[in-house]
Amino acid sequence: MSESDVLIIGSGAAGLTCALKLAQMGIRSTVVSKTQLQSGATLWAQGGISAVLDHDDSLDAHVRDTLIAGAGLCDDQAVKFTVERGPGVVRWLKELGVAFTLDSGAANNAEGLHLTREGGHSHRRIVHAADATGRAVETTLAGVALAHPLISVRERQVSLDLILDEARERVVGAYLYDRNSKRVEAVQAKCVLLATGGANQVYLYSSNPYGASGDGIAMAWRAGCRVANMEFMQFHPTILYHQGSRSFLISEALRGEGAVLRLPTTARCPRTRTTPRSRTTRTPSGREPHRARGGVLRRAARGS
Ligand SMILES: Cc1cc2nc3c(=O)[nH]c(=O)nc-3n(C[C@H](O)[C@H](O)[C@H](O)COP(=O)(O)OP(=O)(O)OC[C@H]3O[C@@H](n4cnc5c(N)ncnc54)[C@H](O)[C@@H]3O)c2cc1C
Repeated sequence: MSESDVLIIGSGAAGLTCALKLAQMGIRSTVVSKTQLQSGATLWAQGGISAVLDHDDSLDAHVRDTLIAGAGLCDDQAVKFTVERGPGVVRWLKELGVAFTLDSGAANNAEGLHLTREGGHSHRRIVHAADATGRAVETTLAGVALAHPLISVRERQVSLDLILDEARERVVGAYLYDRNSKRVEAVQAKCVLLATGGANQVYLYSSNPYGASGDGIAMAWRAGCRVANMEFMQFHPTILYHQGSRSFLISEALRGEGAVLRLPTTARCPRTRTTPRSRTTRTPSGREPHRARGGVLRRAARGS
């Protein structure tokens, strides 16, 4: 059995950020990815990161917009916590080397960043790297992590399950299946962090990568954790649907900048460019069509 201080399962933005933050504190970690290091939904994220950087914007406005978009389902404290840390995280990413798009004429933010606007936001606050923000973030984080002496990387290793102690009270490691050697290895760790992304592949149509199969949620469940809020799945109302090829996202920024959604009848969808995604994807009658497997994306795609 091999050993690691902190075993981080998942090498998207969450896993790599955790590894880098731990390294700053002098803590050694091992990051595992079931494919290559640069992987996950992070690599596919297009639009950008919302943060209050514009002098005319405010944290209160961002919190308010988020709570409205959340239709009463958000945890107020979690929203406040996240919004308050947004500007600092963007600066941290910029310092690491993420090549965000700049705006030489931007007098409104000290960072000189180009800010765009997306549905649900009352201000321009989306920081982006052209239309491939996730790729810029993921490749930068991966590059810094690979060069760090306190971070080890295990690519093409699939975590199958967590290892519990005899009392089944503590997680003490994980079983990793090596896709090259086709062998399973038990890796011991003082601490295991699950950062395996979402479970959107339960839907027939999804903008998420194939690896978003809820592995970490299932492992946590089998280890005895409570699982909650599974109804909150990321989806996009502007996905391209084609019978013969993989569905992919058409940037939501288009809608934010004024692109028009049309219904299958070609009538204009009665949603404005600032309508949040959840409301945009509801049918004009107000019903949510996503009860059926994949319905929301297919319908939205047919209507876009
Ligand atoms: C098309 C698209 C566009 C998006 N646009 C935006 C946007 O504009 N702005 C925004 O804020 N968010 C956007 N998102 C959402 C954002 O990308 C995700 O919320 C975020 O990247 C999630 O990061 P993560 O690290 O939690 O998971 P992921 O990036 O999905 O990483 C999961 C990692 O876990 C690994 N993994 C999974 N299972 C196992 C296993 N069993 N064993 C080992 N490793 C495993 C994977 O290999 C991967 O490395 C978008 C998502 C998509 C798909």
